[in-house]
Amino acid sequence: MSEAVSRWGKVCAVIKDAERAASRPSDGVTLVAVSKTYDAEAIWPVIEAGQRVFGENRVQEAMGKWPVLRERLAAHTKEALELHLIGPLQSNKAKEAVATFDVIESVDRDKIAGALAKEMAKQDRHLPCTVQVNTGMEPQKAGIAPDDTAGFVARCREVHGLNVQGLMCIPPLEGDPAAHFALLARLADETDLPVRSMGMSGDYEIAIAHDATHVRVGSAIFGQRGT
Ligand SMILES: *Cc1c(COP(=O)(O)O)cnc(C)c1O
Repeated sequence: MSEAVSRWGKVCAVIKDAERAASRPSDGVTLVAVSKTYDAEAIWPVIEAGQRVFGENRVQEAMGKWPVLRERLAAHTKEALELHLIGPLQSNKAKEAVATFDVIESVDRDKIAGALAKEMAKQDRHLPCTVQVNTGMEPQKAGIAPDDTAGFVARCREVHGLNVQGLMCIPPLEGDPAAHFALLARLADETDLPVRSMGMSGDYEIAIAHDATHVRVGSAIFGQRGT
């Protein structure tokens, strides 16, 4: 068994335990396995072991490995892979993003929302989206300010016609992530959105205690990234 597969098994078990500890139904949390920087050969064993939902943060990088992996899986089973874009998107990459991904998690400004909507119409691929919220109000980080979230979600739906399913956040590196998870959950409640994508390798158990529906876990499965 590859090391990644045994770590993946452990992460799945930790998720189950965290669901139980939070008195949440099992299967309430979707694991998005973040495979950025790892190549198709490193990812394949985890797909073979049963993982179906993956996250990548770069369009170009994803285009280079996922068509091959999708084909390889299709030779074994009809089960589909679900690929999430979790990184910042440039509007000139909207076409490739819509063609390559199944879910866009990082919608964070009108220009991107408009470019995505246009491409989705063109390609007749109406992908579910989440809006990225900058819960820590960090100047270097992407995302809508918490106070602007409800207005932006409404514009994404009504002006751009996007299928917005939820919110995602990346808390500041320093400090306690719990307050950020609680804020994202409250904003999702207020906007009546079911999806809360929050929690990474270091804090996904805490995120599950705060009602995460999707946790994005990379290094705890694939190992520390080189950069
Ligand atoms: C890389 C990344 C992750 C996964 O981070 P790990 O700490 O390796 O689990 C999650 N979300 C986003 C947006 C990322 O870019």
